[in-house]
Amino acid sequence: MNQLTDRIHYLPPDPETDRPILSAICGTYQTLIVDAGNSDKHAKLFLDELNRCQVKNHHAVVLTHWHWDHSFGTNEMNKLTIAHENTKMHLEKMMEYDWSDEALNNRVQKGLENPFCSEMIKKEFGTDRNITITLPNITFKDKLEIDLGGIRCVVKHVGGDHSDDSSLIFVEEEKALFLGDCLYPSIYTQQPQYRIDNVRHLLENIEMFDAKIYVLSHEPPLSKDDFMGYINLLNLICDLTEKHQRNHLNLVNELTSQLNRKLSQLEEEVV
Ligand SMILES: [Zn+2]
Repeated sequence: MNQLTDRIHYLPPDPETDRPILSAICGTYQTLIVDAGNSDKHAKLFLDELNRCQVKNHHAVVLTHWHWDHSFGTNEMNKLTIAHENTKMHLEKMMEYDWSDEALNNRVQKGLENPFCSEMIKKEFGTDRNITITLPNITFKDKLEIDLGGIRCVVKHVGGDHSDDSSLIFVEEEKALFLGDCLYPSIYTQQPQYRIDNVRHLLENIEMFDAKIYVLSHEPPLSKDDFMGYINLLNLICDLTEKHQRNHLNLVNELTSQLNRKLSQLEEEVV
């Protein structure tokens, strides 16, 4: 467990089985947990760490979106669960799924499951595929404010290409913004995708929050400078995609000459 600020603890992401960051925001009276983890084991590890750090009064979990790695630990967390109404809708659909290798492979073939997620589920759960989908108790449409005592959290639905239910959590007093996976591209399309209008809409929403620390679920927390670099890159690529009418080569050439160097792996992926 690490400390993000005086009043926020987090368990770092673990790429081994695609475990996202799990966090605890500690107010005077209540502690709010952000995301439930990718399995009962992951949730248990987090709860044990909270115990070890003597973090108490955790009665609620808020989900950033429905994807397995953020929601499969909900049952083990065993707390009041808060999520966007679309998160509940997607989880309801998933309740009917069978998680055997055969069923997973079948869904991958039909394009209903992402191959990477399928591999990671097999790796996280092994042969003991004890997966219980638990639905949120409280849902919201646009936003929700939670007062933890001396700390206020705004939970806001932003959507985006990665998942239509993506919601962010802004912790006003700590100037921390939890973004979940909302800035990542789609994963249930043949290729990862961004749409210009979706990205711009998302960035407008994000820029409304005056944060100093930005938490994306699958990487170490970012400072404002690093995060703005990421945002500027997305904005620039949107502009160039529009300018070059999706001509890949022209886009890459102009981006390379504007940056005056070879593109990084991240830049190539975003393009
Ligand atoms: Zn996701």
